[in-house]
Amino acid sequence: MTQWRAERLGQLPPYLFVEIDRRKQAAIDAGKDVMNLGVGDPDCATHEFIVDRLASEIRKPNNHRYPVGSGVGEFVDVAIAFFKKRFGVQLERDQITALIGSKEGIGHLPTAVVNAGDGVLIPEPGYPVYTAGTIFAGGVPRVLPLTAAGHWLPDFDAVPADVAENTRLMFLNYPNNPTGAVADVAFFERAVRFAREHDILIAHDAAYSEVFFETKPSSILEVDGAIDNCIEFHSLSKSFNMTGWRVAFAVGNPDAVAALAKVKDNLDSGQFNALQLAAAEALSHADHVDVRAMTDVYRQRRDVVVAALSEMGVQFDTPQASFYVWARCPDGYTSMEMVAKVLDDAAVVIIPGTGFGASGEGYFRIALTVDVDRMREAMERIKSIKW
Ligand SMILES: *Cc1c(COP(=O)(O)O)cnc(C)c1O
Repeated sequence: MTQWRAERLGQLPPYLFVEIDRRKQAAIDAGKDVMNLGVGDPDCATHEFIVDRLASEIRKPNNHRYPVGSGVGEFVDVAIAFFKKRFGVQLERDQITALIGSKEGIGHLPTAVVNAGDGVLIPEPGYPVYTAGTIFAGGVPRVLPLTAAGHWLPDFDAVPADVAENTRLMFLNYPNNPTGAVADVAFFERAVRFAREHDILIAHDAAYSEVFFETKPSSILEVDGAIDNCIEFHSLSKSFNMTGWRVAFAVGNPDAVAALAKVKDNLDSGQFNALQLAAAEALSHADHVDVRAMTDVYRQRRDVVVAALSEMGVQFDTPQASFYVWARCPDGYTSMEMVAKVLDDAAVVIIPGTGFGASGEGYFRIALTVDVDRMREAMERIKSIKW
């Protein structure tokens, strides 16, 4: 029988969670109360003022037609105003496009800007979509290693000259998934300088820019001249508990934004107008008490996890942003062995570091996406495991 499956799908990294899924199902079948600290998906509902706006916009027939170009006027205006207020950066209208979730934009970007055979630098451990989008576009993924010693920031001096010369695009992601690391403007300045020297476009994934505990994360576009070689992805998913809504935007270099918009014009017709208007409502109320209250919710959960891991003697850095805690496995355990034991002995699902690339070996990730009482119980169970 002919296999109706393109060869490029075979180039995608293997899906590591089959074994975890199997054990999780076995635990559920055995009647265990399985707690999921795996998924990076906010457990709290979308704020009511956002839902209310969608409910009113959905009844207006002019919102039922195809969406317009790079985004509904109000959404684009509000996103520009948000950017100015939050990062002090004034964007022009040709420097922004609405997206159907930032995963969509990130996944399509290589098709828009990378030629077949071009190198793409991808941070590892990292979000798997950077690699998938690169492979679909015929680009060549190259590992940009993140290490604990480097505080999970890449060392640009360590990129071999021949790799840098062949690189067209480089992905960065701060606040970082899975490590919870944050980058300051000085780091972004180094990144922009390195990319300029080698004629590289930087795609900065800022999906967690609004999920922070202490200091507000920066935008790479705060760097002077960054508009020449940077595009940045912002998403409402994590900031406003809107993962299911699929709404985001890309900002930055106008050629790169136009190239991405061209790919999208040819593949999708944009996000539902009513939904973009609800997203505009969210973005224009980023300081709403309900939105800001989420910071305290995640901080409380973080503190529970951090206290438990400290008691266990596990090594980790306390995350300053994102809703993840990234920590070292106990001595003698690989990521998969650790995660399997936590699932079998404590009925708690966590993610092996190797799910984010080979260099995640020796680490695991806990997501802060269950309520604080469940979180406390999950950590009690993990603490009682005999290693
Ligand atoms: C969740 C996530 C995104 C994507 O979110 P969308 O819902 O597609 O906007 C992008 N990057 C990282 C690192 C994420 O964790």
